[in-house]
Amino acid sequence: MRDALNVVAGVDMGATHIRFCLQAADGTVLHCEKRRTAEVIADGVQQGIAALIQRQLQAFSARCRGLVMGFPALVGKDKRTIISTPNLPLKHDELASLADRLERHLACPVEFARDVNLQLSFDVQENGLQEQQVLAAYLGTGMGFAIWLNGAPWTGAHGVAGELGHIPVGDMSLRCGCGNAGCLETVCSGVALQRWYARQPRDWALGDLFLHAGDAPFVRQLLDHAARAVATSINLFDPDAVILGGGVMDMPAFPREALIAQIRQHLRRPLPYEAVRFVPASSSSFNGAQGAAMLARSRFLPVAVLSD
Ligand SMILES: [Zn+2]
Repeated sequence: MRDALNVVAGVDMGATHIRFCLQAADGTVLHCEKRRTAEVIADGVQQGIAALIQRQLQAFSARCRGLVMGFPALVGKDKRTIISTPNLPLKHDELASLADRLERHLACPVEFARDVNLQLSFDVQENGLQEQQVLAAYLGTGMGFAIWLNGAPWTGAHGVAGELGHIPVGDMSLRCGCGNAGCLETVCSGVALQRWYARQPRDWALGDLFLHAGDAPFVRQLLDHAARAVATSINLFDPDAVILGGGVMDMPAFPREALIAQIRQHLRRPLPYEAVRFVPASSSSFNGAQGAAMLARSRFLPVAVLSD
C-alpha cells in the first residue's frame, strides 16, 4: 500500500439521505455520492458506511487516513459518543461503540461531529474565513447554529455548544422536539412554519410561502424571532462575520435583506454594529459531506503527510 493515494472521507448522515465525499490530501474532491439512508444502513450502520467508503477506496487505489462523520445529533466532547438522535431512525445499540468499530474496519481514525458544524466548516472554507471568528445561523427544519473560533468549530465544555434553537424565548405552551417547553424553535423553525402552513386556507405550496404570505403576522413574527436571536448571539460573541443560510432562507422570495436590517437594528453600537459582515451560506447538496472531509483533512493529515 506504499504507493496508495492518501485520502480522507466525510460522511453526512441525515434521516433520509447519507452524503459521502472523498477528498485527496490537497483538498481535491475525488468523489461525492448521495444514497438513501435506509438502504445504506439496511444491514447495520457500521457495515453500510464501511462498504460505501471501501468501494471508493478500491476504485481510487486509495488509503483512508481519517473519517469525520456528521449526525443531526448531539455529539459528546470525545467526538465519539452520540448523545441524542431524535431525528435519526437508529437504535441505540447500533450507535454504541460505532466509532471504535468503524476504526477497526477502516484502519483509520474516526471522529463524529454535529452536522451543523460540518456545514459551518464548509462555509468558512468557501469564504476564506478560517482565521476569523464566525457565527452561522441555518434556519431549516430547526434553527441550526454554529460557532467558529480559533480555527475550528467551538463545541463548549461538553460538545453541545451553540443550541440557539433552544433558548427559552418561544411559545411556553408548546413543547419543543428536545422535550423542553418554550424553545425558540417552537416559533422559529421550518417545523413551526409547516405547522402554521397546515392550518391556513391556501392554494399555494409550502415552498412558495414567502411569495404568497411573507406579510402574514405569523411569518413576520418568525422573522422577528430569528432577528432577535441572531442579534443576541452577535452581541455576545462580537464575530467578524455571520453566515446566514438553511432551507427556509433558500426559499424563493425569502426577505434576506429585511432580516439582516432587522438583525442590525438590535446590534450594540458602534460595535459590533459597524464592523460585522453578513455572508450567505452555500446551499449545494454536498456541503456537509465536504465540510466533514475538510475537517478530516485538518485533523488527520498533518502537513508532513501531504508530501508522503
Ligand atoms: Zn428545544
